[in-house]
Amino acid sequence: MLQLDEKLEAIFGEVVRRNAGETEFHQAVREVLESLGRVVAKRPDFTADALIERICEPERQIIFRVPWVDDRGNVQINRGFRVQFNSALGPYKGGIRFHPSVNVGIIKFLGFEQTFKNALTGMPIGGGKGGSDFNPRGRSNGEIMRFCQSFMTELYRHLGEYTDVPAGDIGVGGREIGYMFGQYKRLTNRFEAGVFTGKGLLYGGSRARTEATGYGNTYFVQAMLATRGRSFEGRKCVVSGSGNVAIYTMEKIREFGGTIVACSDSNGYIVDEKGIDLDLVKEIKEVRRARISEYHRLKGTGTHYIEKGSIWDVACEVAMPSATQNEISGRDARELVKNGVVAVGEGANMPSTPEAVRVFREAGVLFAPGKAANAGGVATSALEMQQNASRDSWTFEQTETRLATIMRGIHDTCAATAEEYGAPGDYVLGANIAGFVRVAESMRALGVI
Ligand code: GLU
Repeated sequence: MLQLDEKLEAIFGEVVRRNAGETEFHQAVREVLESLGRVVAKRPDFTADALIERICEPERQIIFRVPWVDDRGNVQINRGFRVQFNSALGPYKGGIRFHPSVNVGIIKFLGFEQTFKNALTGMPIGGGKGGSDFNPRGRSNGEIMRFCQSFMTELYRHLGEYTDVPAGDIGVGGREIGYMFGQYKRLTNRFEAGVFTGKGLLYGGSRARTEATGYGNTYFVQAMLATRGRSFEGRKCVVSGSGNVAIYTMEKIREFGGTIVACSDSNGYIVDEKGIDLDLVKEIKEVRRARISEYHRLKGTGTHYIEKGSIWDVACEVAMPSATQNEISGRDARELVKNGVVAVGEGANMPSTPEAVRVFREAGVLFAPGKAANAGGVATSALEMQQNASRDSWTFEQTETRLATIMRGIHDTCAATAEEYGAPGDYVLGANIAGFVRVAESMRALGVI
């Protein structure tokens, strides 16, 4: 851990005391505070009026019971969350996660990250996040629908196109968003398309939203590689995960001339040195909703499936962690550096542990933190909101062009901010400071709120 100055250390101490046991939230706050030392030194006005303390405190936290009936007629209980973190720049915006690991600390860390990420996009969106400890694995379509309907029966009263606009995240894709939007529509008797993003194209969704997070991360890494006169062409890449973010990261890398040699799910990882067959991964994950081990079973020779183990043991030049938080440990990072990694782009939220980030930075690896690199998803959500507000629907090309421009903009903002604060090439510092300054300036203009 980096040393914080006295004032920031006191703020962090209070966050830990008031949010006891929420380790991921502490981790996310600590990382931002470590970047703020340079801001505070240059702009002491930012420490006035408890501005930093207010940014670390969510505006509203909603926790609720989600009862539902499974296929066997048993009543099940889950817990639902929505943390409305910050609305200084626009309505709360951020996804909903369904995963057994979800608790208030996880949702708070995600909402905190989202606030700065959304600020970096330059779009008018605040930060929020929601979810449930519901485990969708192995659940029937009917169970998923009943769960989504029960979840929304409580959450709907807290949402609105000008209030709070959810989307998907781990365990929540097009199907779940459809069920939640359907229940919202029924309860409110309003076809309020702008209340959800990630919707299906038939009822107000945006083209390129599904692809946006993965494509965006790849655009960001492309821009980062270009600063050293490099590109994806001919490079070996590893992308962890095999969900929405991972699949479209692989698609764009392939378009840029890179070769993906491994991807994974929570059970294990597959290696295919000839290059992962993306159509097969899509078929396995999107159509059959099966495990990634199927890949090896179907392809056979020349491929490997390694149960458990670490995908980061596979040698590569570009690593794109796109699974979940803290998936790259310090050990993994050292292994990647030893094997010659030159760039890391975080597709997931906070996938590198603080130790891993330190290892990458010390080794001079180009490192794109999630709150900048994976902002393409939420930026395209903001484009979906724009289309809904104007009752319009853009072409794929038009939407992707906007996404590419936004990603280049985020890259350049992070690079310029890092330079301005005396740490050229440090994208962590650049992203944290640029995001913070936008939110803080807006909060100050709105008074003590
Ligand atoms: N869950 C995504 C994220 O982490 C997308 C959020 C959104 O589109 O609102 O940014």
